[in-house]
Amino acid sequence: MELNAMEASAMAVPAPEQISLVSAGLVCGLCGVRAVVHWQRRLTSAEFAAHLALEEQRRDERLRLADPEQPVPGFGPLPRTAECTTPVYACAVHAIGLDAAALIHQSTCTAPNPVHLPGCDCTPEPAPPVDPESTRVVLPDHWTGGS
Ligand SMILES: [Zn+2]
Ligand SMILES: [Zn+2]
Repeated sequence: MELNAMEASAMAVPAPEQISLVSAGLVCGLCGVRAVVHWQRRLTSAEFAAHLALEEQRRDERLRLADPEQPVPGFGPLPRTAECTTPVYACAVHAIGLDAAALIHQSTCTAPNPVHLPGCDCTPEPAPPVDPESTRVVLPDHWTGGS
């Protein structure tokens, strides 16, 4: 949806610097051309601190607006570094490999970086183990075909 909005505004306002202002998150991190792929990266400590501050601010706001006649609204635990990622966008030219893009990259990863493309300079986290239940599918004999 944002991409469509971006396309529309790109047509109306052809100046490149204005396009990147419209949707800064959805352009290639390297060249600023419209992004076609993205992958996940861990937050740096500064990014995580900002994320946490925003969440705390949101909670404070909810407490402030809460009806004093009602029980205090409950919140889950605050986000932890281990569960936070941020999307990294790239255009077709600066995309990292498909296998690498399927993984979560370190907060220090500089991809897309022309020095390392189509790879990157971190060791991405290993992919989560495949749920054994999802591979234990037995098809009916007449579905397996052949022989
Ligand atoms: Zn690019
Ligand atoms: Zn990486």
